[in-house]
Amino acid sequence: MKRLATATEASRYQREWFAGLRARVAGGEPLAVVNADVPHEIFRAMDIPYVVSQWWASVIAAKQRSGHYLELLRQRGLPDHSEQYNALTLASALDPDEGPWGGLPKPAIVVGDASGDVTRKIFDLWGREPGVTFYPLESAAGNEVPANWWELMPHRWEQAIGPARLDLLTAELENLVRFLETTTGRRFRESRFREVMALVNEQEEWNRRTRDLIARTRPAPISVADGIPGVMLPQWHRGTEWARDAARRFHDEVRERVDAGHAVCPGERARLMWIGRGLWYDMGFYQRFQDEYGAVFVWSMYLAIAADGYIRYGDDPMRALAARFAAFTDQLYTPPWSSEWYVKEARLHGIDGVVHLVSDDPRGSYFTARALESAGFPVIEIEADNVDARTYDGDRVAARIGHWLEDAVLR
Ligand code: SF4
Repeated sequence: MKRLATATEASRYQREWFAGLRARVAGGEPLAVVNADVPHEIFRAMDIPYVVSQWWASVIAAKQRSGHYLELLRQRGLPDHSEQYNALTLASALDPDEGPWGGLPKPAIVVGDASGDVTRKIFDLWGREPGVTFYPLESAAGNEVPANWWELMPHRWEQAIGPARLDLLTAELENLVRFLETTTGRRFRESRFREVMALVNEQEEWNRRTRDLIARTRPAPISVADGIPGVMLPQWHRGTEWARDAARRFHDEVRERVDAGHAVCPGERARLMWIGRGLWYDMGFYQRFQDEYGAVFVWSMYLAIAADGYIRYGDDPMRALAARFAAFTDQLYTPPWSSEWYVKEARLHGIDGVVHLVSDDPRGSYFTARALESAGFPVIEIEADNVDARTYDGDRVAARIGHWLEDAVLR
């Protein structure tokens, strides 16, 4: 099966964009390194160039360079076995000229939320580098959360998240804007911010249509290995016209495949769900089970969270942006929000079996597996880190999954 044209185009765009970003920073503009779950929309609206930390870590892993960078951490006396996903980008600052694509330029600002002790410490280390300021965002929690958040979020997010958490993050974002205005000299204009917010909703609406199309099409028109670049590269450019149009082209290409009756695996016998972060150093993994078993990975969180987790309408754009991120971690990792959502998605996609990647910071993974199993879905857990190839034995993992498919899924 040919790679999707939209995925190829998105990869090409990403390289060009990165070259342009390096040129901007070389010309004296400030670079921000931000976590995946911080509100990029503010940086977009203020035209401050930024790189997403996890995206950069995934590039390092895909280039099979994670061992080198983790070794650099070790040489500095820093742990190389904890939160590697976040630590890799920090490590690339220790060796700036050797990185993929010419290397990551040095940031002036790093922003992350304090969602865990380790993440916070990694960002603190960034903040100790000369010339780098760390701006932390708090991560608030709530006791009462509705399990059907995906129905409430687009319009009734105030009800879903609760005013206290929204008040806190809105105030922090207003302070972030002030901080950025003072440190970079850029101005924040609300009219521009509203345009960015509208583009994001349009983009994610396209992703929602694509998710729904894949969910109801048998046999599957694309596999997750095609779908992840199609959704995630534009996601890192959220709030641009390019990203909105890329999401639409991705949808249209999937639609064409469906209309033409193209199947990624014509002999499809089982539809699989992949829970966890992408296995960036071994993206060929997802195709392995098609020829031998007719088992196709049709689901990953990337398209699904784009469809359900981002869309926010409302008249107050800063509060709507706070609503996009105040409960982001909960949507993916805090039961019952996360576990109910995985079950809902498994049903929607007609899933026959779930492969669950459990890293050493599993965040609720026990509850995810339990919820899926009690809903009748067979689950296999594999233990590996999604960017640390040193801990991964692809053939052994594939053999385990093969046995599980035969014993539990294809019976
Ligand atoms: S996989 Fe999880 S931690 Fe990594 S970018 Fe996605 S949401 Fe964030």
